[in-house]
Amino acid sequence: MSASPDSTPSVRKAIGIDLGTTFCAIAHIDAYGKPQIIPNSESERITPSVILFDGNSAIVGTLAKQNAVSEPEKIVDFVKREMGKSKGEFHRDFNGKGYSAEELSAIIVKKLKNDAEKYLGQGISDAVITVPAYFNDAERTATLHAGQLAGLNVLQIINEPTAAALAYGLDKLDSDQTVFVFDLGGGTFDVTIMRIEGHHIRMLASNGDHRLGGKDWDDVIVNWVAEEFDKAHGENPLLDLQSYQDLYSRAVTGKLQLSGRSRSTIVHSYNGRSVKIDLTREDFEARSRHLLEKCKAICEIVMQEAQMTWPQIDRILLTGGMTRMPAVREMISAISGLPLAEDVSPDEAVAIGAAIQAILALLGEEDRLGERVLPIETREQFSTADGGLIRVTNITTHTMGVVLWDDSKVEEYVFPMIKKMTPIPVETKNSFGTAKANMKNAIVRVVEGESTVPSECTPLGVCEIELPPFLPKGSPVELTYRYDANQVLEVTVDAYGKQNRVFIARTTGLSAGEIATATADLSQIKVM
Ligand code: AMP
Repeated sequence: MSASPDSTPSVRKAIGIDLGTTFCAIAHIDAYGKPQIIPNSESERITPSVILFDGNSAIVGTLAKQNAVSEPEKIVDFVKREMGKSKGEFHRDFNGKGYSAEELSAIIVKKLKNDAEKYLGQGISDAVITVPAYFNDAERTATLHAGQLAGLNVLQIINEPTAAALAYGLDKLDSDQTVFVFDLGGGTFDVTIMRIEGHHIRMLASNGDHRLGGKDWDDVIVNWVAEEFDKAHGENPLLDLQSYQDLYSRAVTGKLQLSGRSRSTIVHSYNGRSVKIDLTREDFEARSRHLLEKCKAICEIVMQEAQMTWPQIDRILLTGGMTRMPAVREMISAISGLPLAEDVSPDEAVAIGAAIQAILALLGEEDRLGERVLPIETREQFSTADGGLIRVTNITTHTMGVVLWDDSKVEEYVFPMIKKMTPIPVETKNSFGTAKANMKNAIVRVVEGESTVPSECTPLGVCEIELPPFLPKGSPVELTYRYDANQVLEVTVDAYGKQNRVFIARTTGLSAGEIATATADLSQIKVM
C-alpha cells in the first residue's frame, strides 16, 4: 500500500473520474489545494478500462488487458460505447449472470474508488464523473448509475472538454481567452469552444462523434495486416477471437510506435502461418485519412455553429491520447493556424478538471446548506478576490422538443423547446392549443434530437394532464421545460388550474429498484 501524501482530515472527500473508453484516470485536490492524479494500486497514473472476469472476481486494468489475448472470452472492453443501452440491447454474460453497460462501468469505477481510498488512506464519499459533451440523456444517466452502483455520491456528470478547460484555465483565470478543445480519445471525438473570462468558464459550442476514436485507427492497422495475411495464406485471421485479440494488441503497439517513429513492423502468426508487415507512418496516414477528414469536418461544423472564425480563437487545447498522433496535431494546426497548448497532459487534464469541479460542487453545497464540509483553505484556493466561486456554464448539446400535431400537413412534428447550444440552467415556456375539441387529456411527448420528424428523435418521456370536459379545439395548455446544471430535464404542464410535473424518467438504463438489486449483486463480486 502506498503512503498518503495528504493527511488533512475532512468530512467529505471527493474525486474526479475520467471514465474513458480505453483508459480511466482519477484525481483529487490535495491539502495544498493542488489537483493531483491518484495512481492506481499498480502505481500507474491511468488505468485501462478493461475487465477480466475470473470466477467471482473482476480484475480491472493492465492485468486484465494483458490477458485479453489468452482469455478473450473472459474480457470486456470498450464498454463506454454501449452506455445508455438497455440490458436487452447490450449485456455480457459471466458465471450465468448478464451485466449491463452501467454495471460493467460500475465495476471499473469500483476499482478506481478502492485504489484511491487505499492511496489516500481515507474513504471517498463523492465524485464528479466526466462524459463526452456529445453524450445524450440516456448515456449521461447510465454514467450516473455506474457511479452510484460503485457506492459513490455522484455530485455531477460533466462534459470532458469542460473539465479539460477547467484544468487548463485554473491558473489562467485572470487572462481572458477563447480555447478550442479538441478531444480525441479511445472511442469518442468531441470538439468544444470554451471562453475563459473573469473567473467564468463558459462553453460556447460543441459537436462530436461518439463513435469515432483511437479504436478506429487501431482497426485500420488490424484490417491492413489481416488483408495481407489473407493475400498470403488465403485465410482471414480475424475470425478466431484469440487471433483477433493478439493482432489487435500488436496493432495498438504499432500505432503508438508510429507516433514516435516513421516505421514499425508487425508480425502476426495464426494457424501455424505468419506474415511480417512493414508499416510506415506515411502509409498509415494515407489509410486512415478518411478518419482525419471526419475530425476536420466536425471542427469546421462547430466553428460555423459558433459563428466564429479561427482568428477569434486563442489556443487549441488537445486532450485524449489520440492527439499524440502527429497527423492529428498537424491537421488541427493547419486548419486553425493556431498554437497548441502544451501545458496540459492529454491523458490527465480531464480527471484533474473533474476533481476541480467536485470541489466547486462541494463548496456550492456548503453555501446552500450553510455547513462546512471542506477545509477553509480549499475555499480560498477556489474563490475569486471578492470571495465568489469560479463559475462554469455549460450549454445543451442536443435539442429538447415536444411532439405536436400540424393540422395543415396532417402529421406530427417536433417543436424545439430548448435548442441545442443554449446555456444551462435554462427555463422555457410555451403555450400550445389542443389538437381536437373535447380532448380528455393533454399528453406531452418529450423528445431529444435535431430533427423535426418525431421518429428521428429519441423519446425521453411523457407528461400527461387531465383536461376539463367540452374544451374547444385550440384550448391553451402551458408547457415549461427546465434543464438544470446537472442536465436533468423537468417538464411541467399547466392547464385550467391543474398542474403535472415530471422529472424526465429516462427510458433506457436502470430503474431505482434495479439499481438497488444491481448494487447488492455487485457487492458479491471482488473487484481488484
Ligand atoms: P483516452 O481515451 O483519452 O485515454 O485515449 C486513448 C487513445 O489514445 C487510445 O486509442 C490510445 O491507443 C491512443 N493513444 C495513446 N497514446 C498515443 C500515441 N502516442 N499515439 C497515438 N495514439 C495514442
